[in-house]
Amino acid sequence: MQATTHLTSKTQYFLEKEELYGAHNYHPLPVVLSKGAGVFVWDVDDKRYYDFLSGYSAINQGHCHPRIIETFIEQAQRLTLTSRAFHNDVLGEYEEFITKFFGYDKVLPMNTGVEAVETGLKLARRWGYEVKGVPHNKGKIIVCENNFHGRTISVISFSSDESSKKDFGPFTPGFEAIPYNDIPALQAALQDKNVIGFMVEPIQGEAGVVVPDEGYLAKAAAMCKEANVLLIADEIQTGLARTGKMLACDHEDVRPDIVLLGKALSGGTMPVSAVLADDEIMLTIKPGDHGSTYGGNPIACKVAMTSLQVLVDEKMAHNSAVLGAHFRKELLALNNPHISIVRGKGLFNAIVINHPDKDTAWDICVAMKQNGLLAKPTHGDRIRFAPPLLITREQIDECIGIIKKSMESL
Ligand code: PLP
Repeated sequence: MQATTHLTSKTQYFLEKEELYGAHNYHPLPVVLSKGAGVFVWDVDDKRYYDFLSGYSAINQGHCHPRIIETFIEQAQRLTLTSRAFHNDVLGEYEEFITKFFGYDKVLPMNTGVEAVETGLKLARRWGYEVKGVPHNKGKIIVCENNFHGRTISVISFSSDESSKKDFGPFTPGFEAIPYNDIPALQAALQDKNVIGFMVEPIQGEAGVVVPDEGYLAKAAAMCKEANVLLIADEIQTGLARTGKMLACDHEDVRPDIVLLGKALSGGTMPVSAVLADDEIMLTIKPGDHGSTYGGNPIACKVAMTSLQVLVDEKMAHNSAVLGAHFRKELLALNNPHISIVRGKGLFNAIVINHPDKDTAWDICVAMKQNGLLAKPTHGDRIRFAPPLLITREQIDECIGIIKKSMESL
């Protein structure tokens, strides 16, 4: 049985509204937040928590970062949306900024992460037929088992999570899943001449921060190049300084053919995603072939530029690398018998709970909530720890204390 805690009447009030009027497609921790600043959030009773989920890594820059919010407000008072039927005076500036920032010829702006994924897949298929010369409708994209790339019908078509697929078929064909972190499996899959792309998360986030062996990405990139197959890196969760580098692929000096970004591209203020690629790929899409009403809107463009600049100016990748290593060291030093694995890179970490009761990870999260830290289990026995990247060493140490106390209270 999952642990329950005493909930105040104010909290109950908001939980009941969601229960009554909202779809039941999430199972949140019973906490109702009303304010955020930096590494902290506050609930409706003004209790303060460390946020160790950071909106699934959308809030790398911290809650309500003043520079991002200022940019947002300034642009919101000037021009919010033109649609792409007309030009606006921010889009081009943003396109130049982000392509130079990451070193690609072109960007295609979208909104949510899964839209960037869909866009990347469409681009890859177009390139496969028009440039590589794969026979029409025969193209195949290799993905990894236990992936998470979002929730559209095409994207769940290649998910290995049964609950995300049940009764949502029929599914989109053209994908083949191979085990993650398995170079021989990739080698075998690449033998098929109709393979167009290999889409991979540099670290599998939703699967519980599964870090592949050192050298996996570099080898995979070299093999894709050799086979004339596009490497599509889904950096939606791992990117933007989360793992201690601007992109997780940077750890192995890998330059993917297509990069997918989202989440922290807006510092948690609005859905902003992007697909980066060079001309040979990007220019296969022509006017009318693909788009989105809100993609590339002026607020998103301005906010994305400030969000990226904040990461650089505040040296968040460096902080993530240094404090991430410290955090893992301290977690291991807890020597708690119920932590069977500590893994991660930078401030993107998870523990795997070893306990016969399958609700233990949930119960630990409830205890941590009581003690002032918010995290959420994934896949039952894993807890991800991903605080905003401006967290300090003293705060990390305080959080280790909270985790220790919460685990001991079981
Ligand atoms: N790709 C990865 C690696 C993700 O972690 C996520 C979301 O968690 C997505 C894609 C989908 O992003 P969104 O929820 O913004 O559609």
